[in-house]
Amino acid sequence: NLSEKLDKAFHILKGHGKITEVNVADTLKEVRRALLDADVNFKIAKDFTTRVKEKAMGQDVLTTLQPGQLLIKIVKDELTELMGGDAAGINLSGNPTIILMSGLQGSGKTTFSGKLANFLKDKKNKKPLLVACDIYRPAAINQLHVVGEQIGVEVYSEPENKNAVDIAQNAIKHAKANGFNVVIVDTAGRLAVDEEMMTEIANVHKAITPNETLFVVDSMTGQDAVNTAKAFNDRLNFDGVILTKLDGDTRGGAAISIKSVVNKPIKFIGTGEKMDAIDVFYPDRMADRILGMGDVVSLVERAQAQYDEEEARKLQKKIAKNEFGFDDFLTQIQQVKKMGNMKDLVGMIPGAGKALKDIDVPDDAFKHIEAIIYSMTPAERSKPSIIDVKRKNRIAKGSGRKVEEVNQLMKQFDQMSKMMKMMQGPGGKNLMKMMGG
Ligand code: GDP
Ligand code: MG
Repeated sequence: NLSEKLDKAFHILKGHGKITEVNVADTLKEVRRALLDADVNFKIAKDFTTRVKEKAMGQDVLTTLQPGQLLIKIVKDELTELMGGDAAGINLSGNPTIILMSGLQGSGKTTFSGKLANFLKDKKNKKPLLVACDIYRPAAINQLHVVGEQIGVEVYSEPENKNAVDIAQNAIKHAKANGFNVVIVDTAGRLAVDEEMMTEIANVHKAITPNETLFVVDSMTGQDAVNTAKAFNDRLNFDGVILTKLDGDTRGGAAISIKSVVNKPIKFIGTGEKMDAIDVFYPDRMADRILGMGDVVSLVERAQAQYDEEEARKLQKKIAKNEFGFDDFLTQIQQVKKMGNMKDLVGMIPGAGKALKDIDVPDDAFKHIEAIIYSMTPAERSKPSIIDVKRKNRIAKGSGRKVEEVNQLMKQFDQMSKMMKMMQGPGGKNLMKMMGG
């Protein structure tokens, strides 16, 4: 019967929550906080949440079955888009394909050069040559030789030569003469952006005209990563970004900021020191990572739960003060209707879904009730006790229903009000909780 149905509806309203404009704003504030925690630049995070809000409102999130889920989906899609949408492959044109590594010292250039050579050899059937252009530290040349040995890839170096441009050009000649079809040039970096380093890499870049210039950046450097990316991009107009050290507990917010600032795709990520710790960058997976680790999903859920509790508390107050009237009743019905048809609603009741699946619930179960309530005056709606026989007759006529139906509704409303009051008595809090609050 109706009171049972409403019972379930209340249950659902509490369990699945609904989102209002205020609620969306609050929730997005949490999302923004999570993004900032994940090292996303302030302005980018702000613009992002503004866009999500517009989208959420445009898509009528408020009237859908599971607004929280939809909001999360919009956030995730938007994040994915922000990071480039689809995965960007590496450009292997040119013969040989010339790939230049750039980035600060310690960002992971040498390690990634090895990983990429290994990846291209195993996955793309290429014959790569690694080139040691870090002319300042003998140890750096050594490091690349060790890497090359590990993965069975030849390393070209000229330990006595102090001219990076020279070495790079000689290496390409060597590659052409010996059947290498990819040349990966590892370069020297500094601890911070400086003019000497920039001039050197710009010269190498100009001399060898790479098919791919990659900017390697340590994802743990957070906000600094963005400034570094911008400095290198201004000089080299690079083709793609490599985000290293994502195996730690960094959230990868730098990925969002860098993409937004330099507008270049992130192509690979490094997830460890070993040579196989390389992954193609997938924006949607990164979005999952940022959302998951930033706990945005649970933030959204928590914000909703808080909101539901607040609504429930307001309703409780009304009931306690004997102010629950037909208008509230109508609001509840309309909210139930907004959430979808009755069958869907029944199906959503945790645990009850299966048992009730075959019960036929008409979609217009509330139609007559609404008609009756609409025929009541505001005074009658807020204080149903004033509805006497004379008023009942008038309401029945106005709504085109029988007097018995008006009586029945009054009775059900009465039962429901009593039940609600009961829930507020001793132990009532627990009962409310049991109902899904
Ligand atoms: P370079 O100065 O830019 O050539 O940087 P290196 O390749 O020498 O890397 C600097 C340090 O970071 C080394 O100790 C690497 O083992 C380490 N490293 C590089 N990439 C990764 C990565 O993806 N994950 C982890 N955990 N360490 C990395
Ligand atoms: Mg190095």
